[in-house]
Amino acid sequence: MIDFFVLGSGVSGSTIANVLSSKYSVHVFDKARGPGGRSSNKRFKNNLSFDHGVQYISPKSKIFTKYIKKLYKNKILKIWDDNHLDFTFEKKKLSIKYIGKKANNDLVKFNLKNIKKSFGSPVTKIYFKKKFWEITLKDKSKYQFKSLILTCPFPQLKKLAKKYLNKKILKLKVQMQPNITVMVAFKKQKNPPISSIRFDDDILAWAANENSKKRFKSNINLWTLQATLKWSKKTINKYKIDKTIMNQLISRFTKLTGFEKNKIIFKKIHGWKYSYNYKKTPYLSLWIKKYNLGICGDWFNGPKVEDAWLSANNLAKKIK
Ligand SMILES: Cc1cc2nc3c(=O)[nH]c(=O)nc-3n(C[C@H](O)[C@H](O)[C@H](O)COP(=O)(O)OP(=O)(O)OC[C@H]3O[C@@H](n4cnc5c(N)ncnc54)[C@H](O)[C@@H]3O)c2cc1C
Repeated sequence: MIDFFVLGSGVSGSTIANVLSSKYSVHVFDKARGPGGRSSNKRFKNNLSFDHGVQYISPKSKIFTKYIKKLYKNKILKIWDDNHLDFTFEKKKLSIKYIGKKANNDLVKFNLKNIKKSFGSPVTKIYFKKKFWEITLKDKSKYQFKSLILTCPFPQLKKLAKKYLNKKILKLKVQMQPNITVMVAFKKQKNPPISSIRFDDDILAWAANENSKKRFKSNINLWTLQATLKWSKKTINKYKIDKTIMNQLISRFTKLTGFEKNKIIFKKIHGWKYSYNYKKTPYLSLWIKKYNLGICGDWFNGPKVEDAWLSANNLAKKIK
């Protein structure tokens, strides 16, 4: 029987899997078609590639900075330099922005390189049978593992593992905020010398110029647009049926930048229901020994990749 079933191939799942794999057998399962979770990259035909979740990593703590610098040295990550415009004029310290060499799920792919993994595998039920876990997938297949690690966002965790969590955990005040993201490609649009733009707008918060990440050469100009929190909250439950939502965000972008709408050759919307939690919980991770159940994820500590990584390492220490 394999030691650890890890649910989730995002930053926290891949990190804990990587650390545990030096001592235990590990198998990672994810409902998505590829690795990365909220740091995944969307690649469509004709080389249209967008980081539609995580845009960059700016490490803050000493320990995470050391880890990121190691990945930079090993050429997994590179620096996203150039011209980041901020029209909100908020006073922010300029930080180094690290991105994946090929895509922003490079960190996760590196972590999972030698680890057994299964994608397109949604977990629908978990059941602790005294000495081991029985995990059921959507296709009704069942797996048995000694221990279980859950790395999904808090609302999904509560749904899946309610029976195994005490009241204190179930009542944690975690609010995962939504984000509406649109990927858009312009043909024969002159690529401006701009990497990202932070807008002072009620709908459009931010836009990233994917070409400026210098991963490919193309005469197609690719942008990832992120909506404001207020507008994301208003539209998250209807963006799939209301097709005008994508066009409203794009129209705001073309209006504010002067890009020509008639040069658009591709557009796609993605709604992140559980993007970020801004409030810290009293925990960094949980290890519930009586069930051999571990829980980690960014939401314990904050809204960033760094929080996911710190949570996973904290859990690994508890297990070891
Ligand atoms: C639009 C957006 C932009 C962001 N930008 C940045 C940024 O620029 N910099 C930054 O540092 N952070 C950013 N973040 C936050 C960052 O993405 C997260 O902090 C981090 O990726 C969380 O990693 P995680 O492993 O904890 O969770 P996730 O990445 O959410 O991983 C959880 C995984 O569990 C899987 N899963 C869930 N339920 C099941 C199930 N039932 N069965 C099987 N699998 C399941 C999911 O598919 C997912 O892969 C951004 C987030 C979003 C949404």
